[in-house]
Amino acid sequence: MKLYIKRFENRPVDSNCFLIFNKSTAIIIDPGTQNHIELYEFIAEKNLKVEYCIITHGHFDHVYGIEDIVSRYSPKCILSSESLNYVGDIKKNLSVFYGKQFSYQLENYIIVPEEGHIINWEGYELEFYYTKGHTASCISCKINNDVFVGDLMIKGEKTVTKLPSGNRKMAEKSIDIILNLAGIEIIYGGHGEPMTKMEAQNFFNEN
Ligand SMILES: [Zn+2]
Repeated sequence: MKLYIKRFENRPVDSNCFLIFNKSTAIIIDPGTQNHIELYEFIAEKNLKVEYCIITHGHFDHVYGIEDIVSRYSPKCILSSESLNYVGDIKKNLSVFYGKQFSYQLENYIIVPEEGHIINWEGYELEFYYTKGHTASCISCKINNDVFVGDLMIKGEKTVTKLPSGNRKMAEKSIDIILNLAGIEIIYGGHGEPMTKMEAQNFFNEN
């Protein structure tokens, strides 16, 4: 079955929210916008059932809309145990520094174990990897030839590792993990345009 990927820009911070979908069901990655009308309208127009919501990491600009998504679609959320803590903590998720004070207690979720995890969805394998470095909460998800990496890799930008729980060495290791995944073609970062594996290799091997 054919799989589609659509990118939505979050606000107030311009991070990426992705919708992965086939004819009838969908996955949301990084719901960083409250009252995300464009996303809701698109889902309604296509008549999609949102089964999962993946959180690449717990920074506020990637989870700000989670409460709306849960109340509208009741998806199962997939995240690291660290991200679960971040979502519920205004300091860890950095919202307090934006003057937002966002926190939310998730209830229906799957914690990705450190050794990684596979979830079968509509005949596809969603492969999850811990890819710490930007924060200790970061995971990535591979599906087919695509991988969603959150803020570990952003096209043309050095990975931010200066925020709490960031670690440069860990980020380098995680980038290696991503670049060595079998069959990867396109890498979708947490901000900006996606990049090809080649573009990522060229950039991150030099930076
Ligand atoms: Zn971040």
